[in-house]
Amino acid sequence: MDVRQSACPSANLPKNRMTDSYRTFFLLFLLYAFVPAGAQAQPASGEVTIVAAGDIMLGTIFPSRNYLPAGEDCSELLKPLHAALSGGDITFGNLEGVLTNNASTPKKCDDPSVCYTFGMPTHFVNCLVDAGFNLLSVANNHTGDFGEQGRRSTVETLEKAGIHFAGLADYCVTDTFTIKGVKYGFAAFAPNSGTVNLRDIPAAEKIVRALAATCRIVIVSFHGGAEGSSRQHITRQTEYFIGEDRGNVYEFAHRMIDAGADVLLGHGPHVTRAVEVYRNRFIAYSMGNFCTFDRINVSGVSGIAPVFKIRTDKNGAFLNAEIISTCQEKRQPPKIDKQQRALKVIQQLTRQDFPEMADAITISDDGAITIKN
Ligand SMILES: [Zn+2]
Repeated sequence: MDVRQSACPSANLPKNRMTDSYRTFFLLFLLYAFVPAGAQAQPASGEVTIVAAGDIMLGTIFPSRNYLPAGEDCSELLKPLHAALSGGDITFGNLEGVLTNNASTPKKCDDPSVCYTFGMPTHFVNCLVDAGFNLLSVANNHTGDFGEQGRRSTVETLEKAGIHFAGLADYCVTDTFTIKGVKYGFAAFAPNSGTVNLRDIPAAEKIVRALAATCRIVIVSFHGGAEGSSRQHITRQTEYFIGEDRGNVYEFAHRMIDAGADVLLGHGPHVTRAVEVYRNRFIAYSMGNFCTFDRINVSGVSGIAPVFKIRTDKNGAFLNAEIISTCQEKRQPPKIDKQQRALKVIQQLTRQDFPEMADAITISDDGAITIKN
């Protein structure tokens, strides 16, 4: 059962928040009135699986529809990875662009040769649904590529498709929903205008605390850090890319967990980065280019990406995870990487960037991430 508890309409945030707090108050009242004392604190048994992938850009209508798959048909693009994406209560990805059929409102670019504008036709949402995606981040540096029209079209398209999403400051800061009896809260952050701000950590803490107060598992997505093959390491400092402050993802992730987040899903650098378990909560710092059809460099380390299958208990505490290595070439569907390069990169980067993890987790050659006793 998948119950959408908070729709993500174009209503303004204060009104949503107000409605949410009344609803929360009413639900809490019911809970305390009818649940016997002692039963309230019982943690749910069992576990949940969160499948997570990085950037998704299935081709773009701008500057020309030649940047779309043949026949403007995306149905073959994700098929080779349907099995890898299956088996989750949640299947997450970062929608690196907007869903719109209107190419007439591209962002202004001083230098079109280094300016990338990503719009996917709205019917491409069907390929995401078919691949099992039920949760998307729309907080990144491309959700403003076609201005207000692009954002609105994306929101309407995802709502119609029944995909949960969050991350746009004026539309949808958070989302909450219940799957198999577990209530999830979701927030997505980025350092870009129109998105929920990754760099305003106190405001982000407030958002996460509010979710944690009413949800069993809080998932936080972040599109942060500098980009490219030379920026794979976690510096634990503020990162800059072409003069832009892309946040301190280490500090952000830790403070979100301190505020009540359970699973941190990072992307944005277009390369794979390390993983960490902090206070028994899982952080994937960057999941790379998962399926980026064209206009995004997929050579070398930019063409490999992990899919994570993260298992937590029903309170969000990390149990174990599996890394499935994928790879892609320009204008080709991504596929399983037999060389397991994403896994090898994660093993190496985690060793280098988080030496303290050597005592905490094992990342095996078969892709399993387990907790050391
Ligand atoms: Zn991006």
